[in-house]
Amino acid sequence: MKLYITGIMAFLFVSLTIVQPGEARPGKAKTDNYKIIYAGTLLSVPGKKPQSDMTIIVKNDRIERIEKGFLSAEALGADTDSTIELIDLSDKFILPGLMDAHVHLNHQPTRSRHRRQRGDRDKPTGAQSAVNTMVYARRTLAAGFTSVRDLGSDDQSVFAVREAINKGRMIGPRILVAGSALAITGGHGDSIPMEKTGDALARLKDGTCDGPMECRKAVRYQYKLGADLIKFTATGGAASNTGMESQFFAGEIQSIVKTAHLLGLKATTHAYAAGAIKDAVRAGVDSIEHGFLLDDEGIQMMKKQGVWLVPTISASYPPPILKIPDPESVKLRNKYRAFERAYAAGVKIAFGSDAGTFTHGTNAKEFDMMVGFGMTEMDAIYAATVSTARLFGIDDEVGTLEAGKLADIIAVKGSPLSDISLLHKIDFVMKGGKIAKYKGQMTEPFSY
Ligand SMILES: [Zn+2]
Repeated sequence: MKLYITGIMAFLFVSLTIVQPGEARPGKAKTDNYKIIYAGTLLSVPGKKPQSDMTIIVKNDRIERIEKGFLSAEALGADTDSTIELIDLSDKFILPGLMDAHVHLNHQPTRSRHRRQRGDRDKPTGAQSAVNTMVYARRTLAAGFTSVRDLGSDDQSVFAVREAINKGRMIGPRILVAGSALAITGGHGDSIPMEKTGDALARLKDGTCDGPMECRKAVRYQYKLGADLIKFTATGGAASNTGMESQFFAGEIQSIVKTAHLLGLKATTHAYAAGAIKDAVRAGVDSIEHGFLLDDEGIQMMKKQGVWLVPTISASYPPPILKIPDPESVKLRNKYRAFERAYAAGVKIAFGSDAGTFTHGTNAKEFDMMVGFGMTEMDAIYAATVSTARLFGIDDEVGTLEAGKLADIIAVKGSPLSDISLLHKIDFVMKGGKIAKYKGQMTEPFSY
């Protein structure tokens, strides 16, 4: 047994050989790596009361068990070949890794936000996008977000980074990728230059489609690329200056959602106008992004069908870099108060920030907004863990800290249940049993 007192620099070895956690020794089976985490306050299952002075025992990538009190390494009962690391977070508040259902990992806020104003000048190359995605994925993990959904990128960069992360080649959150969001010709998400509007391959790569058959093909193209879900833009959008009203016909929306479901993929839609939201709900969509103009009928329909709202309140606040005085989007949000009304009505709410339209790594500002507009701190944390895991369909693996689940664990100083802004200062991040951040500093625990 090798005993380490964590974290990254301060190891205490009780044997003669130095064994890196998880490293196999020649001629022997791979050793098990245990991490014993002392949790001062532990919110293992958001929605339930936190407990004090607990020990989380992590074996390799998963939580083996959770015990009351601070368990000693000797009491663990691990076999002699194991490595054991003690992580003392007895002065911290521990909770499950956060999840963001709406990010754009290859985007960054830019001064020339509207496509029609900027043309294609600012469009990054595929290589630049991949590099951006790597940097922003790391920044997102540092912010305590261990799982995210990327809702609109190109056909390469986020896919490539997802693979690199899954293989342990780089540090980053677990990513569910939508690929290119499906949009109508000229709609929110159509980024094809005018002269290539009729080019079939350009349309597939961009997710631009008109009519049920072309939309079916567009879904299948993203599926072939390896998308984890399908995103479409049922209405215009602020970022493209294409308005707020419906863009797809109901029949096109049905085609997209049905095709996605046939392939086992969930479908989500960017939607502002109430009519488009209802068209999507009628078609069986799994979640509504933004939903700023959601009406009462739409709220009842979503509730009845169990459709998730991903409010992205942050997205209605244009990034300060744009210097927009008294923005229309904020006035509109405050007029309709879709988030507040949906929350009061009991619509299922997941956490989504739309990071990428603002600075990556500041995803937690969505917590400030949710709580600022009346959600309890516990419900906001519940949304970003339990609920978002359910929306992602991976709640048997993540979302709570329980025996058998992946060890996605974060820690902060002080209780976010009394001050939600503490979630801006993440002290510790573990993803799948690997320490990504310790004492507020990122680590490099992955082999290249
Ligand atoms: Zn978005």
